[in-house]
Formats: sequence, C-alpha cells, structure tokens
Amino acid sequence: MAAFIEIEKLRRDYPSGEGTITVLKDIDLTIEAGEMVAIVGASGSGKSTLMNILGCLDRPTSGSYRVAGREVASLEADELAALRREHFGFIFQKYHLLSELTALGNVEVPAVYAGLPPQARAERANQLLTRLGMSDRTEHKPGQLSGGQQQRVSIARALMNGGELILADEPTGALDRRSGEEVLRILEELNAEGKTVIIVTHDMQVAGRARRVIEISDGEILADRRNERPPVETTTLEADGTAPGRSRGGWLRSVADRFKEALRMAVLAMLAHRLRTFLTMLGIIIGIASVVTVVALGQGTQQMVLANISSLGTSTLEVFAGKSFGDTRSGRITTLVVADAEELAKQPYVTAVTPTVSTSAVVRSGSIVANAMVNGVGDQYFAAKGTKLASGRFFGADDVAARGQDVVIDENTRKTLFEDSGVDPLGQVILVGSVPCRVVGVTEPQQGGFGSSQNLSIFAPFTTVQTRFQGSSSLRSITVRVADDVDTKLAEQDVTRFLEARHGTRDFFILNTDDIRATITSTTEMLTLLVAAIAVISLVVGGIGVMNIMLVSVSERVNEIGVRMAVGARQSDILQQFLIEAVLVCLIGGFMGIALSVGAGQAIALSTTKFQLIYSTTSIVAACLCSTLIGVVFGYLPARNASKLDPVVALARD
Ligand code: ADP
Ligand code: MG
Repeated sequence: MAAFIEIEKLRRDYPSGEGTITVLKDIDLTIEAGEMVAIVGASGSGKSTLMNILGCLDRPTSGSYRVAGREVASLEADELAALRREHFGFIFQKYHLLSELTALGNVEVPAVYAGLPPQARAERANQLLTRLGMSDRTEHKPGQLSGGQQQRVSIARALMNGGELILADEPTGALDRRSGEEVLRILEELNAEGKTVIIVTHDMQVAGRARRVIEISDGEILADRRNERPPVETTTLEADGTAPGRSRGGWLRSVADRFKEALRMAVLAMLAHRLRTFLTMLGIIIGIASVVTVVALGQGTQQMVLANISSLGTSTLEVFAGKSFGDTRSGRITTLVVADAEELAKQPYVTAVTPTVSTSAVVRSGSIVANAMVNGVGDQYFAAKGTKLASGRFFGADDVAARGQDVVIDENTRKTLFEDSGVDPLGQVILVGSVPCRVVGVTEPQQGGFGSSQNLSIFAPFTTVQTRFQGSSSLRSITVRVADDVDTKLAEQDVTRFLEARHGTRDFFILNTDDIRATITSTTEMLTLLVAAIAVISLVVGGIGVMNIMLVSVSERVNEIGVRMAVGARQSDILQQFLIEAVLVCLIGGFMGIALSVGAGQAIALSTTKFQLIYSTTSIVAACLCSTLIGVVFGYLPARNASKLDPVVALARD
C-alpha cells in the first residue's frame, strides 16, 4: 500500500527580481498514516513553504506530491478545497480565527462548507470545545480569549471535519511555556488516537516530542531520524468517535445552508462597518429615490393633464370654420351651417352632433351685472361634450326648435349671480342682453387647468342665439361625438371628405380631442423618460460606489478569505459571500430609497391637493430588481477577485 504522503523531487521556486530563488530543492519524503512528524530548521529554511504545499494551500513548481495515492497537481482548485475541508486540519502560529465569530462559530466554519446541518454542527463544535477544556468559553470572541485558548479553538476547528492530517505550523510559537505545553499534549493525544500530525517548528525541544524529526536546512532535508519514546496515554481525551456525516440533509439543504451562512457573514461584515455601509448605501438610496420619485411625478403630471383635457370630451371632433384658430377670415366664412350638422348626424359612426355659435352678452340678475359667453348649442351638446349637471336639467330638442328661452349656466355664472344671495338658481329668470331667460340647469364645476377658464358661460339653444343675438345663420363650430367603437382618425377623414364635398372647398378645420390626448400623453411620457434617464445615471454612480467599497472590503479581509479557503471554502463560497454583501447593501439601500420617495410623496400630498405623485407597483418592483442587479453587476468584480485569491498569499497577508 502506498504511503499516506509521498513527495518526490519536490521543488518550489519563487520569482525574485530578474531570476528565481529555489526554496525547496528536490525534496523526497514519505509519511505514513498515523505518524507524528516534526519538521525543524532555522528560520527561512523553507519549513512553512513545505507545510503549505503539504496542506494543498500552495502548489509545487515541479515534482510530485501524492496524498493517499492521489496526485495533487492534477486537482482543480475546488478539489483541493475539498481535500482541505474533508481530510486536513490546520493549526497556525497566529491562530487565524475569524474575529467576528464566537469560539463556537469559528469551530463550526469547516462544517458549514462541508454541509453539515446546523444542529449537528453546533453539537459537534460544542463537544470538541468541551473536550479541549473550553466549554465555558464557547460564546467568547477571539479577542476575549488568551493565546492558549485561541489555539485550542483553532485545534477544535482543525478537528471539526475529522482532521485525519493535522498540519501545525509553529503552533506554540506565540504561546507561553505552559500553554505551549498544553497544545503539544493535545497534539500528542490526537496522534495517539490515530491522526497523522505534522508539526513545523524551529524549537528543538518542541521537536523532541515527535517520534520522527525531519531537519531541513536551506530547502534540503539534512536529517530524518526517529525518537524512541513511550506511547502517549489518552487519559484526558476521549476518542471523538466517528468523523461527522456530511451533507446529511441532501445537496439542496447543504446549498441553502451555505447560503444562509454567507448571508449571516455578510450581515456581520456590514454591521462591523456600519458607517461605511451606510455611506455606500447612500448612493443607492439617492439613486433609487430619485428614479422612483421622477416616475411617480411623471405619472402624477400625466394623470392631472389627462383629467384636465377630459373636459374637452372624449372621442369628439370639433369642426371650425376657417383654416385654423388664428384665421382672420373665419368670421366671414358662413358656409358652416345647421344643415351640415343635420347631415353629419345621419352618418352611421356619429352618436351625437351639435352646432355651436357663440357671442358675448351682459347678464343681469337682480342688481348683479356681469359679462358672459353665450354659447348657442344643440340639445345633443351635453351628450357630445360629456358635460355633467350639478343640478336641474338640459333643454331638449323642442326647446331648440321653438327657440326657447331656457338656459343652462355654468358654475362660474352661478357663483357670480347667485352665491351672495343664496338663492337656488333653478327657475330663476336672468336677463341675457335684453332677453329674459329661465335657468333650468347648472353644470358641474370644471377642473382647473387645460380648457378651463374664469369666463362665465351660459348655454342656450343655438336657434335662440342665432336669432336673438346674432342675426346670422352661420355656425362657429360643429361638435361631433364619434361612436366608441370607431377610430376617431377614420371618422375625422370621413367628416373632412363629407364636408369638402358639401362645401366644394376646404374652409374648415377639425380638432380631434383624442389626438390632443395622445400628444399630451406621449409628451409627458417622453419627459418622464428623459428625467428618469438622468436619475438612472445617479444610480450607476451609486453602483460604482458599491463596487469601490466592496473592493476595499475584500482587500481588508484578505486574511479572512485565506482562513476560509484553508478550512475548505470553495471559490463559489467566497464569491457568494461577497456577492451577497453587495446585493444586500444595494437591496437595503433600494428599500430605503423607495421609503424615502414614498415619504416625500406623502409630504407633497399633505401640502397640496392640486398635485399628487402616483406610485405604481411596477416602478417599485422595478426599483427593487434594479438595485439587486446593481449589487450583482458592481459586486461581481470584487467578489470574483476575492474568490480567485491564492490561499497562501491570502493567509500571509495581515
Ligand atoms: P520558514 O522555514 O521560516 O518557515 P519559509 O518557508 O517561510 O521559511 O521561507 C523560506 C524562504 O522562502 C525564505 O527565504 C523566504 O524569503 C522565501 N519566501 C517565502 N515565501 C515567499 C514568497 N511568497 N515570495 C518570495 N519568497 C518567499
Ligand atoms: Mg515559517
């Protein structure tokens, strides 16, 4: 059977200036399972270099290294990680415990990566710590423990997944005599239990405790001798039973578990640097808040404008005499007549038609005198325009035919004429010019803004206005309400063709309210998009801030990454941990941004009723997705950098 560890012609070069220096010079070495070996030598002789290669933290430049018959050079990074995780246990001179975790948490780390369920993990970690006399210190952080205690925690960590091969690099180097003695005793006992133990030391006294001492000097093995010593009795330690079962909860459980652990680590890291985390988030908060607010603002504006133009009526065409509103000749054009309206009414796609004429007149009620627009309209005017009544009724077709003197007044007129006296305007007689008219209805107040005015408006049958006020039979305009199922564009074309045929020329123009609505909608949408694009820039800037801080965070925690890799973290575990941190920063920032924006909307809603921000779920969901995406995109590079770190290089950094 092959030896547990077989090294042949192992060489390790380091680049140095122009050339290279050779630290290990074609070493041959075999170590059997169950041995306790001390590697001794002066400082700088290459002990740690050899140890790192033995522990698969580093790779040889040339030569072969086989562990349990497997050639290490052929293994991928993650396979090496698996080897470290499942078979090796490291004990370092500087302990290398994770300062944010408790003793128990530190001992658990290798099992997290091995996929042991939390319950079993905690149990085993507790057992190990108890075995090492640390049962009353499990909740202490490394900073609250003495050197000897920290080293015992790190021994427990090395044993967590079984630790068939314990690699201890100067384990007593930082300890006082008594603690060092204690650690050595533990290592001896572990060896007596059957574990292979390799200790690196420059202290011959420490080396004397091993049964085999390999002396190296300047990268070469000088001596390899065996000590004759009585076997150690395992009195204080009970055998730690079988190595823990792995992935008992199945693959999915173990992935979920590792995710949870990475999440916990990310939160711990964020809490450890609260101010920095918050400042990073600030960029995201401002970015998300501005995007969400701008979109809500745009939607609010659009709604308001659309509500305002609804006073123009829906699906209506207004036919005016002349070329356009500014046409000076329009007053003299008299071809737009009632007969046109009557013929248009016969078209199948028309639901209501009303001729309109208008003039202004002085109105009088009691002692109050005012100027008003007098609109002569047909009985279908209100249906065509979609005007609603606050009280009373409209006049009918017979009123129009009879040139009746029933009128409908608008809210402005009601206010002017009747507000002070408090009289109900319905049934009251007012003088319009010199014509006495009876008020039969009052329209609902118009919404402010587009199409509204402070003018007083009075609606009377157009026949009455034509004969009593104008003395002319020509019309100012004809309002056509198009059936709901007909495209107003097509209707507009047809009306144009129809009237052109009747008049022999095009002496009219048509206003299509749906056109106006569409124009306004697309304009506000464009504006919203434009401002949102500017806000998105601030988001990108925020994202770059996240990337920046994540890079800092990675470089600050290189040592932690090295430790995690040493105990068997996969590259994907490290990637995941930092990516989660970046996403978490962005997501929390995103939520805060949304809250800020909604808060601002509430404040605006409280201070004015005229205007309101409209938050759509789509924009909020999009903001959340967006911030997650920023976390992933800008967190990826730093996280990948972290995962690609070389374990030895990472461990060497302080
Ligand atoms: P020790 O026996 O004290 O543990 P090391 O194995 O740490 O010695 O180092 C052996 C030699 O290799 C030293 O001369 C050291 O300068 C050199 N060395 C170690 N690591 C590196 C490195 N990353 N780059 C260049 N030289 C290195
Ligand atoms: Mg060393």
